[in-house]
Amino acid sequence: MSNQTEPSFRESVDLMFNRAVGLMDLSPGLEEKIRVCNATYTVRFGVRLRGEIKTFTGYRSVHSEHMEPVKGGIRFSLGVNQDEVEALAALMTYKCALVEAPFGGSKGGLCVDPRAYDAHEMEAITRRFAYELIKRDLINPSQNVPAPDMGTGEREMAWIADQYARMNTTDINAKACVTGKPTHAGGIAGRVEATGRGVQYALREFFRDERGMKAAGLSGSLKGKRVIVQGLGNVGYHAAKFLAEEDGALIVGVIERDGAIVDTNGIDVEALRTCVAETGGVAQFEAGEYIKNGAEVLERDCDILIPAALEGVINKSNAERVQAPLIIEAANGPVTAGANDILVAKGCVIIPDMYANAGGVTVSYFEWVKNLSHIRFGRMQRRQEESRHQLIVDELERLSADSGVGWQLSPDFKERYLRGADELELVRSGLDDTMRIAYQAMRDVWHGRDDVPDLRTAAYLVSIDKVAQSYRAKGL
Ligand code: GLU
Repeated sequence: MSNQTEPSFRESVDLMFNRAVGLMDLSPGLEEKIRVCNATYTVRFGVRLRGEIKTFTGYRSVHSEHMEPVKGGIRFSLGVNQDEVEALAALMTYKCALVEAPFGGSKGGLCVDPRAYDAHEMEAITRRFAYELIKRDLINPSQNVPAPDMGTGEREMAWIADQYARMNTTDINAKACVTGKPTHAGGIAGRVEATGRGVQYALREFFRDERGMKAAGLSGSLKGKRVIVQGLGNVGYHAAKFLAEEDGALIVGVIERDGAIVDTNGIDVEALRTCVAETGGVAQFEAGEYIKNGAEVLERDCDILIPAALEGVINKSNAERVQAPLIIEAANGPVTAGANDILVAKGCVIIPDMYANAGGVTVSYFEWVKNLSHIRFGRMQRRQEESRHQLIVDELERLSADSGVGWQLSPDFKERYLRGADELELVRSGLDDTMRIAYQAMRDVWHGRDDVPDLRTAAYLVSIDKVAQSYRAKGL
């Protein structure tokens, strides 16, 4: 997407990495070891479809194995290539380190347009790709655990999990070979919404950081803030929906493949999502104004810009015209290194991808732990919680009786209180904690050091330091 004068996506990631290590005291050998991508496996395989053999090209790249398994999604898109997969794998390493998900970084991709095939065909293609990766331990609960990414979701993860189980009938941990599965197939509540939910929690934490807000020239809360979202896929949709419904933000622009909808009164995200699902785009949406040149809407006046689609959409060719004072990178790599410098010089604050979209892998971690522990998430905690809550309820009722006030706890409150948190509540609160703690780590470096110009550099500093610590601990 970026123009010719810019480095590739992988070079962009390396540039930002280099900038951060320039501020660190790492031995040159270790610096190089962390930066390089350990291995990329390329596979070409044939699938018989509609009477002829079609050949597909796929990749699984392992960036860093300082912790295993390595983790990262599998993308289905015609734009997939080795450079992109390697950049995304590197980002996974830094992302996992930043949010303390104990994984190395990996990523996969298959050059395919998933909309060009029906469900049976996609199943045959996905299973065959999975077969190739499983054979080489590039899908394995203890070595490499994929997840959804662009063009894939629960359905594909269920096929991959089943393919692994068929090929490894005695592996009791088979379900943990992939995350993002449907809940009825070993998934966890809240994984589908997780990345968008994480974007919401990240913004909430940013709005608790007075100095950060001041740097962006913003004040107050998320309520009434004008938001433009690019991409109404899984991440963009959930982020926009939660911000509008729960934080009172106004979604004033949504950019999709076929153009954009703008509406200063706020767009009904749910209705627009239905329109995209039914008509394949936003052009026929009844409310607001339709703009054919969607990319132009990235440059419109707003408080928060959420690129939640492709990499490189904000590049040297448009960065100067982007007006948003705050950008949160829900997608991976939406701002090129060149655009980053232009925006930072203008005073724009960018909440970087490796943090902003880490909600997905965070909840993947919960799912993986749930699969390995073979116990419903929260089941043990709930027992402990229940007895603690019972003591509190008993005490409240005793106090009420003793004082003669005569009030009683409503049965409904008691039931909810004694039930304790269910899986979804536990997942959300675990995700919220994770996003808060990771933001605070970045924030302290950003505000605490004069030589750290932005949150991205701070994010790299925090995460590279963690990766370096684990290499050192391993004796490297
Ligand atoms: N594909 C997502 C990402 O880029 C999720 C990865 C995962 O859950 O392992 O972070």
